[in-house]
Amino acid sequence: MATSLRFAGRTAIVTGAGSGLGRAVAARIAAEGGKVACLDLAAGPVQETARDAGGGARAYPTDVSDPAAVQAAIESAAHDLGRPSVVVTCAGIGKFAHTVDMPFADWSRIIAVNLTGTFLVARAALPHLLDGGGSITTIASNAGLQGVPYGAAYCASKGGVIQLTRALAAEFLDRGVRVNCVAPGGIKTPLQRAFELPPGGDPEHLRRLMTPLGRSKPEEVAALVAFIASDEGRYMSGAIVPFDGGLTI
Ligand code: NAP
Repeated sequence: MATSLRFAGRTAIVTGAGSGLGRAVAARIAAEGGKVACLDLAAGPVQETARDAGGGARAYPTDVSDPAAVQAAIESAAHDLGRPSVVVTCAGIGKFAHTVDMPFADWSRIIAVNLTGTFLVARAALPHLLDGGGSITTIASNAGLQGVPYGAAYCASKGGVIQLTRALAAEFLDRGVRVNCVAPGGIKTPLQRAFELPPGGDPEHLRRLMTPLGRSKPEEVAALVAFIASDEGRYMSGAIVPFDGGLTI
């Protein structure tokens, strides 16, 4: 539960806001007084998030892998809600596959949404963040920190998000923009259904991805993101924060 108003007077851009972590982050920031621009692919779910979040939240149906669409959505959000100073990039997709069978189109789409989409949103938002300060919080995964069988594209995309985060943090460290990354693992969201074993895949390979702490909830990730993105996280930049029940110990 929100206990303070750390985002009062601020505008936030949250991608992937139609579901899972993005929806929980949008709700959390709105509950703490922020005006949230909710970006997601499909209009229906993201409009529902904006309606439920309240606090002036608005929906901007956007494909984060489309440079022109991202630019237009962020400019519209800045016009409608005021200068964005908080960005959280939750949009993401995944799929398990035997690497030798993986269609090029699947590889390309996972990289385009998870990695290129994070870059495009950061690139479009940065001029606003630099004009008065702000923060970007990216969402990677335990799969960005360790090798996951059948997950070549997903691991590569999330490892890329981690290094993108560090590069941006270094570039803007002395210009008032903090950039950090949360690397979750095992959160109960619809995304987990995308990670079905490929035909003939060995479940034993995935056994080490279980921990005694079980799974977490999107709201717990949202609470961490809210800390990092608020002024309470002012001394954090370039941090990669695992939130995975000990998966990557
Ligand atoms: P989710 O419930 O599936 O939410 C992801 C959202 O992103 C969906 O609404 C999805 O829309 C949207 N999206 C997909 N492609 C998009 C695009 N091109 N442009 C804009 N939005 C797009 O998944 P989640 O679990 O909340 O995942 C959020 C982030 O956390 C992802 O980056 C994921 O990799 C990461 N993560 C999740 C877990 C976990 O255990 N859940 C663990 C580690 C990392 P559609 O539903 O229409 O595709």
